[in-house]
Amino acid sequence: MISARAYAAATAKSPLAPFELSRRDPGPRDVLIDISYCGICHSDLHCARDEWGGQPFPCVPGHEIAGVVSAVGSAVTKFKVGDRVGVGCMVDSCGECAACKAGLEQHCERGATWTYGGSNFYRPHDPGTGHTFGGYSTAITVVENFVVRIPDALPLDAAAPMLCAGITTYSPLKRFGAGPGKRVGVVGLGGLGHMAVKIAHAMGAHVTVITTSPNKAGPARELGADAVLVSSDRAAMEAAGSSLDLIVDTVSAVHDMDLYMGLLGLEGALVLVGLPPEKLEVSAFTLTGARRIFTGSNIGGIAETQEMLDFCAAHGVQAEIEKIPAQQINEAYERLLKGDVKYRFVIDSATLHT
Ligand code: NAP
Ligand code: ZN
Repeated sequence: MISARAYAAATAKSPLAPFELSRRDPGPRDVLIDISYCGICHSDLHCARDEWGGQPFPCVPGHEIAGVVSAVGSAVTKFKVGDRVGVGCMVDSCGECAACKAGLEQHCERGATWTYGGSNFYRPHDPGTGHTFGGYSTAITVVENFVVRIPDALPLDAAAPMLCAGITTYSPLKRFGAGPGKRVGVVGLGGLGHMAVKIAHAMGAHVTVITTSPNKAGPARELGADAVLVSSDRAAMEAAGSSLDLIVDTVSAVHDMDLYMGLLGLEGALVLVGLPPEKLEVSAFTLTGARRIFTGSNIGGIAETQEMLDFCAAHGVQAEIEKIPAQQINEAYERLLKGDVKYRFVIDSATLHT
Protein backbone atom coordinates (compact mmCIF):
# COMPACT_ATOMS: atom_id res chain seq x y z
CA MET A 1 0.00 0.00 0.00
CA ILE A 2 1.38 3.41 -1.00
CA SER A 3 0.31 6.56 0.83
CA ALA A 4 -0.40 9.61 -1.28
CA ARG A 5 -1.46 13.16 -0.61
CA ALA A 6 -4.30 14.61 -2.60
CA TYR A 7 -7.03 17.24 -2.87
CA ALA A 8 -10.63 16.06 -2.70
CA ALA A 9 -14.18 17.40 -2.67
CA ALA A 10 -15.99 15.69 0.24
CA THR A 11 -19.41 16.54 -1.25
CA ALA A 12 -20.75 18.39 -4.29
CA LYS A 13 -21.09 21.50 -2.17
CA SER A 14 -17.68 21.44 -0.49
CA PRO A 15 -14.55 23.16 -1.73
CA LEU A 16 -11.62 20.89 -2.45
CA ALA A 17 -9.41 20.28 0.59
CA PRO A 18 -6.31 18.25 1.51
CA PHE A 19 -6.97 14.49 1.58
CA GLU A 20 -4.89 11.37 2.27
CA LEU A 21 -5.33 8.23 0.18
CA SER A 22 -3.65 4.88 -0.44
CA ARG A 23 -2.71 3.49 -3.82
CA ARG A 24 -2.59 -0.23 -4.46
CA ASP A 25 0.88 -1.81 -4.53
CA PRO A 26 1.87 -2.36 -8.15
CA GLY A 27 0.64 -5.75 -9.39
CA PRO A 28 2.67 -7.64 -12.02
CA ARG A 29 1.49 -5.40 -14.90
CA ASP A 30 1.16 -2.15 -12.95
CA VAL A 31 3.25 1.00 -13.09
CA LEU A 32 3.56 3.28 -10.07
CA ILE A 33 3.83 6.92 -11.13
CA ASP A 34 5.20 9.81 -9.13
CA ILE A 35 2.89 12.59 -10.38
CA SER A 36 4.68 15.83 -11.31
CA TYR A 37 1.77 17.82 -12.77
CA CYS A 38 -1.98 17.52 -13.29
CA GLY A 39 -4.07 19.76 -15.53
CA ILE A 40 -7.44 21.15 -14.43
CA CYS A 41 -10.06 20.17 -17.01
CA HIS A 42 -13.54 21.70 -16.96
CA SER A 43 -14.80 18.11 -16.51
CA ASP A 44 -13.10 18.13 -13.09
CA LEU A 45 -15.30 21.04 -12.08
CA HIS A 46 -18.45 19.42 -13.55
CA CYS A 47 -17.66 16.27 -11.49
CA ALA A 48 -16.50 17.87 -8.22
CA ARG A 49 -19.83 19.74 -8.19
CA ASP A 50 -21.79 16.70 -9.42
CA GLU A 51 -23.23 18.68 -12.33
CA TRP A 52 -23.77 15.54 -14.44
CA GLY A 53 -25.24 13.54 -11.52
CA GLY A 54 -24.14 10.23 -10.02
CA GLN A 55 -20.66 11.31 -8.96
CA PRO A 56 -19.32 9.26 -6.02
CA PHE A 57 -17.69 11.20 -3.17
CA PRO A 58 -15.13 11.93 -1.92
CA CYS A 59 -14.03 13.04 -5.38
CA VAL A 60 -10.33 13.39 -6.20
CA PRO A 61 -10.46 14.83 -9.74
CA GLY A 62 -7.67 14.96 -12.29
CA HIS A 63 -7.18 13.14 -15.60
CA GLU A 64 -4.38 15.13 -17.17
CA ILE A 65 -1.52 13.42 -15.39
CA ALA A 66 2.19 13.75 -16.20
CA GLY A 67 4.92 12.21 -14.09
CA VAL A 68 7.79 9.81 -13.74
CA VAL A 69 7.70 6.04 -13.22
CA SER A 70 8.85 5.18 -9.69
CA ALA A 71 8.24 1.39 -9.65
CA VAL A 72 7.11 -1.31 -12.06
CA GLY A 73 5.54 -4.74 -11.57
CA SER A 74 7.45 -7.90 -12.45
CA ALA A 75 5.71 -8.44 -15.81
CA VAL A 76 5.84 -4.83 -17.07
CA THR A 77 7.56 -4.63 -20.45
CA LYS A 78 6.83 -1.13 -21.75
CA PHE A 79 8.20 1.07 -18.96
CA LYS A 80 11.07 1.29 -16.52
CA VAL A 81 11.79 3.41 -13.46
CA GLY A 82 12.59 7.00 -14.48
CA ASP A 83 10.47 7.04 -17.68
CA ARG A 84 8.41 10.20 -18.36
CA VAL A 85 4.80 9.14 -18.68
CA GLY A 86 1.22 10.32 -18.84
CA VAL A 87 -2.23 9.07 -17.88
CA GLY A 88 -5.46 10.47 -19.28
CA CYS A 89 -9.15 9.93 -18.65
CA MET A 90 -9.14 6.14 -18.30
CA VAL A 91 -7.03 3.64 -16.41
CA ASP A 92 -8.43 0.31 -17.64
CA SER A 93 -10.92 -1.51 -19.88
CA CYS A 94 -11.81 -5.13 -20.65
CA GLY A 95 -9.28 -5.39 -23.49
CA GLU A 96 -11.33 -8.08 -25.22
CA CYS A 97 -14.43 -6.51 -26.77
CA ALA A 98 -14.67 -5.16 -30.34
CA ALA A 99 -14.22 -1.55 -29.18
CA CYS A 100 -11.10 -2.34 -27.14
CA LYS A 101 -9.67 -4.38 -30.02
CA ALA A 102 -10.30 -1.44 -32.35
CA GLY A 103 -8.32 0.87 -30.05
CA LEU A 104 -11.46 2.58 -28.78
CA GLU A 105 -11.03 1.64 -25.12
CA GLN A 106 -13.14 4.66 -24.11
CA HIS A 107 -16.10 2.84 -25.68
CA CYS A 108 -15.35 -0.53 -24.03
CA GLU A 109 -18.53 -2.62 -24.17
CA ARG A 110 -18.06 -3.78 -20.59
CA GLY A 111 -17.18 -0.27 -19.46
CA ALA A 112 -13.92 1.61 -19.28
CA THR A 113 -12.56 2.45 -15.84
CA TRP A 114 -12.46 6.26 -15.63
CA THR A 115 -9.46 7.76 -13.90
CA TYR A 116 -11.61 9.25 -11.16
CA GLY A 117 -15.08 8.47 -9.90
CA GLY A 118 -14.90 5.25 -11.92
CA SER A 119 -15.59 1.63 -11.06
CA ASN A 120 -12.55 -0.61 -11.28
CA PHE A 121 -14.16 -3.67 -12.90
CA TYR A 122 -10.93 -5.40 -13.81
CA ARG A 123 -8.48 -4.79 -10.99
CA PRO A 124 -8.60 -4.19 -7.23
CA HIS A 125 -9.57 -0.70 -6.14
CA ASP A 126 -7.11 1.36 -4.16
CA PRO A 127 -7.38 0.28 -0.52
CA GLY A 128 -10.26 1.87 1.37
CA THR A 129 -12.36 3.03 -1.58
CA GLY A 130 -14.99 1.72 -3.99
CA HIS A 131 -14.19 4.12 -6.80
CA THR A 132 -11.12 5.55 -8.49
CA PHE A 133 -9.20 8.60 -7.32
CA GLY A 134 -7.60 10.90 -9.91
CA GLY A 135 -4.52 12.96 -10.50
CA TYR A 136 -4.84 15.76 -7.93
CA SER A 137 -2.51 13.56 -5.93
CA THR A 138 1.16 12.71 -5.53
CA ALA A 139 1.12 9.16 -6.94
CA ILE A 140 -1.05 6.74 -8.91
CA THR A 141 -0.87 3.02 -9.79
CA VAL A 142 -2.00 2.22 -13.34
CA VAL A 143 -1.83 -0.89 -15.51
CA GLU A 144 0.88 -0.37 -18.14
CA ASN A 145 -1.47 -0.55 -21.16
CA PHE A 146 -3.12 2.69 -19.99
CA VAL A 147 0.13 4.61 -19.55
CA VAL A 148 1.60 6.59 -22.44
CA ARG A 149 5.11 7.85 -23.03
CA ILE A 150 5.73 11.61 -22.99
CA PRO A 151 8.26 12.45 -25.73
CA ASP A 152 11.44 14.23 -24.57
CA ALA A 153 10.54 17.29 -26.68
CA LEU A 154 7.51 17.97 -24.46
CA PRO A 155 8.01 19.44 -20.97
CA LEU A 156 5.97 17.51 -18.39
CA ASP A 157 3.99 20.55 -17.22
CA ALA A 158 2.89 21.61 -20.71
CA ALA A 159 2.28 17.98 -21.71
CA ALA A 160 -0.13 17.27 -18.84
CA PRO A 161 -3.21 19.00 -20.40
CA MET A 162 -2.65 17.13 -23.63
CA LEU A 163 -3.67 13.87 -21.90
CA CYS A 164 -7.29 15.07 -22.06
CA ALA A 165 -7.56 18.40 -23.91
CA GLY A 166 -5.05 17.28 -26.55
CA ILE A 167 -6.50 13.88 -27.37
CA THR A 168 -10.13 15.06 -27.16
CA THR A 169 -9.50 17.56 -29.95
CA TYR A 170 -6.93 15.58 -31.97
CA SER A 171 -9.25 12.59 -32.33
CA PRO A 172 -12.18 14.31 -34.11
CA LEU A 173 -9.84 16.53 -36.14
CA LYS A 174 -8.13 13.43 -37.47
CA ARG A 175 -11.34 11.44 -37.90
CA PHE A 176 -12.91 14.20 -40.02
CA GLY A 177 -9.81 14.81 -42.11
CA ALA A 178 -8.55 18.19 -40.87
CA GLY A 179 -5.66 19.11 -43.13
CA PRO A 180 -4.73 21.28 -46.10
CA GLY A 181 -7.81 22.58 -47.90
CA LYS A 182 -10.14 21.93 -44.94
CA ARG A 183 -11.82 24.88 -43.25
CA VAL A 184 -12.05 24.08 -39.55
CA GLY A 185 -13.94 26.06 -36.91
CA VAL A 186 -13.21 25.84 -33.19
CA VAL A 187 -15.97 27.04 -30.86
CA GLY A 188 -14.75 28.21 -27.42
CA LEU A 189 -11.15 29.18 -26.77
CA GLY A 190 -10.53 27.47 -23.44
CA GLY A 191 -8.42 24.45 -22.49
CA LEU A 192 -9.77 22.18 -25.23
CA GLY A 193 -10.26 24.98 -27.74
CA HIS A 194 -6.70 26.27 -27.64
CA MET A 195 -5.37 22.73 -28.22
CA ALA A 196 -7.82 22.31 -31.12
CA VAL A 197 -6.49 25.51 -32.73
CA LYS A 198 -2.86 24.49 -32.37
CA ILE A 199 -3.42 20.93 -33.60
CA ALA A 200 -5.68 21.87 -36.53
CA HIS A 201 -3.12 24.51 -37.58
CA ALA A 202 -0.30 21.95 -37.33
CA MET A 203 -2.37 19.55 -39.49
CA GLY A 204 -2.45 22.27 -42.16
CA ALA A 205 -6.12 23.24 -41.96
CA HIS A 206 -7.51 26.79 -42.26
CA VAL A 207 -8.66 27.58 -38.71
CA THR A 208 -11.45 29.92 -37.60
CA VAL A 209 -12.02 30.51 -33.89
CA ILE A 210 -15.59 31.32 -32.85
CA THR A 211 -15.56 32.97 -29.42
CA THR A 212 -17.85 34.84 -27.05
CA SER A 213 -14.85 36.89 -25.87
CA PRO A 214 -13.80 39.75 -28.17
CA ASN A 215 -10.54 40.09 -26.21
CA LYS A 216 -9.48 36.59 -27.33
CA ALA A 217 -9.28 37.59 -31.03
CA GLY A 218 -5.60 38.61 -30.90
CA PRO A 219 -4.46 35.66 -28.76
CA ALA A 220 -6.39 33.26 -31.03
CA ARG A 221 -4.31 34.39 -34.01
CA GLU A 222 -1.13 33.96 -31.99
CA LEU A 223 -2.15 30.35 -31.36
CA GLY A 224 -2.50 29.73 -35.09
CA ALA A 225 -6.03 30.84 -36.02
CA ASP A 226 -6.40 32.29 -39.52
CA ALA A 227 -9.71 34.01 -38.73
CA VAL A 228 -11.79 34.90 -35.67
CA LEU A 229 -15.54 35.34 -35.33
CA VAL A 230 -17.07 36.90 -32.22
CA SER A 231 -20.38 35.08 -31.86
CA SER A 232 -22.26 38.17 -30.63
CA ASP A 233 -21.44 39.94 -33.92
CA ARG A 234 -24.48 38.63 -35.78
CA ALA A 235 -23.59 40.39 -39.05
CA ALA A 236 -20.15 38.70 -39.13
CA MET A 237 -21.68 35.33 -38.19
CA GLU A 238 -24.21 35.65 -41.01
CA ALA A 239 -21.56 36.71 -43.52
CA ALA A 240 -19.56 33.59 -42.56
CA GLY A 241 -22.59 31.31 -43.09
CA SER A 242 -21.89 27.98 -44.87
CA SER A 243 -18.14 28.71 -44.97
CA LEU A 244 -16.75 25.84 -42.84
CA ASP A 245 -16.29 22.09 -43.44
CA LEU A 246 -15.84 20.99 -39.82
CA ILE A 247 -16.47 22.49 -36.38
CA VAL A 248 -15.08 21.22 -33.08
CA ASP A 249 -17.42 22.60 -30.41
CA THR A 250 -15.80 22.74 -26.97
CA VAL A 251 -18.40 24.81 -25.12
CA SER A 252 -19.12 23.73 -21.54
CA ALA A 253 -22.55 25.40 -21.22
CA VAL A 254 -25.83 25.53 -23.16
CA HIS A 255 -25.45 27.46 -26.41
CA ASP A 256 -27.34 28.17 -29.62
CA MET A 257 -26.55 25.21 -31.90
CA ASP A 258 -28.30 26.71 -34.93
CA LEU A 259 -26.09 29.78 -34.76
CA TYR A 260 -22.90 27.68 -34.93
CA MET A 261 -24.14 24.97 -37.29
CA GLY A 262 -25.18 27.67 -39.76
CA LEU A 263 -21.46 28.23 -40.34
CA LEU A 264 -21.18 24.77 -41.93
CA GLY A 265 -21.46 24.25 -45.66
CA LEU A 266 -23.01 21.25 -47.45
CA GLU A 267 -22.45 18.05 -45.45
CA GLY A 268 -20.27 19.87 -42.96
CA ALA A 269 -19.98 18.30 -39.51
CA LEU A 270 -20.16 19.80 -36.05
CA VAL A 271 -18.45 17.53 -33.53
CA LEU A 272 -19.52 18.23 -29.98
CA VAL A 273 -16.84 17.60 -27.40
CA GLY A 274 -18.11 20.05 -24.77
CA LEU A 275 -20.38 18.42 -22.20
CA PRO A 276 -22.99 20.89 -20.92
CA PRO A 277 -25.13 19.22 -18.25
CA GLU A 278 -28.33 20.46 -19.96
CA LYS A 279 -29.85 19.27 -23.27
CA LEU A 280 -28.97 21.07 -26.48
CA GLU A 281 -31.52 21.94 -29.16
CA VAL A 282 -31.05 22.09 -32.91
CA SER A 283 -33.60 22.97 -35.59
CA ALA A 284 -34.50 20.26 -38.10
CA PHE A 285 -34.01 22.79 -40.89
CA THR A 286 -30.44 23.50 -39.85
CA LEU A 287 -29.64 19.81 -40.36
CA THR A 288 -31.72 19.02 -43.43
CA GLY A 289 -31.08 22.32 -45.23
CA ALA A 290 -27.47 21.39 -46.05
CA ARG A 291 -27.28 17.70 -45.01
CA ARG A 292 -25.25 18.89 -42.02
CA ILE A 293 -23.95 16.37 -39.50
CA PHE A 294 -24.31 16.85 -35.74
CA THR A 295 -22.13 14.36 -33.87
CA GLY A 296 -19.94 13.97 -30.80
CA SER A 297 -16.61 12.61 -29.69
CA ASN A 298 -15.31 11.22 -26.42
CA ILE A 299 -11.55 11.56 -25.71
CA GLY A 300 -9.60 9.02 -27.81
CA GLY A 301 -8.07 5.55 -27.47
CA ILE A 302 -4.71 4.81 -25.90
CA ALA A 303 -2.79 4.23 -29.16
CA GLU A 304 -4.29 7.43 -30.56
CA THR A 305 -3.26 9.31 -27.41
CA GLN A 306 0.33 8.19 -27.97
CA GLU A 307 0.02 9.18 -31.65
CA MET A 308 -1.24 12.64 -30.59
CA LEU A 309 1.71 13.17 -28.22
CA ASP A 310 4.18 12.10 -30.91
CA PHE A 311 2.46 14.33 -33.50
CA CYS A 312 2.56 17.32 -31.13
CA ALA A 313 6.22 16.70 -30.24
CA ALA A 314 7.11 16.54 -33.94
CA HIS A 315 5.18 19.75 -34.73
CA GLY A 316 6.24 21.83 -31.72
CA VAL A 317 2.73 21.83 -30.25
CA GLN A 318 2.20 21.96 -26.49
CA ALA A 319 -0.37 23.39 -24.09
CA GLU A 320 -0.29 26.99 -22.85
CA ILE A 321 -0.41 26.74 -19.09
CA GLU A 322 -0.64 28.66 -15.84
CA LYS A 323 1.01 26.63 -13.09
CA ILE A 324 -0.60 26.80 -9.65
CA PRO A 325 0.01 25.31 -6.21
CA ALA A 326 -2.64 22.82 -5.05
CA GLN A 327 -3.75 25.34 -2.43
CA GLN A 328 -5.20 27.50 -5.26
CA ILE A 329 -7.44 24.84 -6.85
CA ASN A 330 -10.71 26.38 -5.61
CA GLU A 331 -9.72 29.83 -6.82
CA ALA A 332 -8.71 28.29 -10.17
CA TYR A 333 -12.19 26.73 -10.52
CA GLU A 334 -13.80 30.17 -10.08
CA ARG A 335 -11.43 31.69 -12.63
CA LEU A 336 -12.11 28.80 -15.05
CA LEU A 337 -15.82 29.58 -14.90
CA LYS A 338 -15.07 33.19 -15.83
CA GLY A 339 -12.80 32.14 -18.71
CA ASP A 340 -9.91 33.79 -16.86
CA VAL A 341 -7.09 31.40 -17.78
CA LYS A 342 -4.64 31.16 -20.65
CA TYR A 343 -5.45 28.41 -21.32
CA ARG A 344 -5.05 25.58 -18.81
CA PHE A 345 -4.34 25.54 -15.09
CA VAL A 346 -1.80 22.91 -14.15
CA ILE A 347 -1.26 21.84 -10.53
CA ASP A 348 2.38 21.55 -9.48
CA SER A 349 2.11 18.29 -7.55
CA ALA A 350 5.18 19.10 -5.42
CA THR A 351 2.95 21.59 -3.57
CA LEU A 352 0.76 18.71 -2.34
CA HIS A 353 3.67 17.68 -0.10
CA THR A 354 3.77 21.07 1.68
P1 NAP B 1 -12.93 25.73 -20.57
O1 NAP B 1 -11.46 25.87 -20.49
O2 NAP B 1 -13.80 26.33 -19.52
O3 NAP B 1 -13.38 26.25 -22.02
C1 NAP B 1 -14.72 26.34 -22.43
C2 NAP B 1 -14.84 27.57 -23.34
O4 NAP B 1 -16.18 27.59 -23.85
C3 NAP B 1 -14.69 28.90 -22.63
O5 NAP B 1 -13.35 29.31 -22.53
C4 NAP B 1 -15.49 29.84 -23.51
O6 NAP B 1 -14.68 30.24 -24.62
C5 NAP B 1 -16.59 28.95 -24.06
N1 NAP B 1 -17.87 29.15 -23.35
C6 NAP B 1 -18.10 29.03 -22.02
N2 NAP B 1 -19.40 29.27 -21.75
C7 NAP B 1 -19.98 29.54 -22.93
C8 NAP B 1 -21.34 29.84 -23.34
N3 NAP B 1 -22.32 29.94 -22.43
N4 NAP B 1 -21.59 30.05 -24.67
C9 NAP B 1 -20.60 29.96 -25.58
N5 NAP B 1 -19.32 29.69 -25.26
C10 NAP B 1 -19.02 29.48 -23.97
O7 NAP B 1 -13.33 24.18 -20.57
P2 NAP B 1 -12.54 22.91 -21.20
O8 NAP B 1 -11.71 22.31 -20.13
O9 NAP B 1 -11.97 23.30 -22.50
O10 NAP B 1 -13.76 21.91 -21.40
C11 NAP B 1 -14.83 22.25 -22.27
C12 NAP B 1 -15.95 21.23 -22.19
O11 NAP B 1 -15.48 19.99 -22.75
C13 NAP B 1 -16.41 20.88 -20.77
O12 NAP B 1 -17.82 20.73 -20.80
C14 NAP B 1 -15.73 19.55 -20.49
O13 NAP B 1 -16.43 18.77 -19.55
C15 NAP B 1 -15.79 18.93 -21.86
N6 NAP B 1 -14.82 17.84 -22.11
C16 NAP B 1 -15.23 16.83 -22.92
C17 NAP B 1 -14.37 15.82 -23.25
C18 NAP B 1 -14.80 14.73 -24.19
O14 NAP B 1 -14.13 13.71 -24.27
N7 NAP B 1 -15.87 14.92 -24.94
C19 NAP B 1 -13.08 15.80 -22.72
C20 NAP B 1 -12.69 16.87 -21.91
C21 NAP B 1 -13.57 17.89 -21.61
P3 NAP B 1 -14.79 31.72 -25.30
O15 NAP B 1 -14.42 32.68 -24.21
O16 NAP B 1 -13.79 31.65 -26.38
O17 NAP B 1 -16.19 31.87 -25.79
ZN1 ZN C 1 -10.81 16.39 -19.30
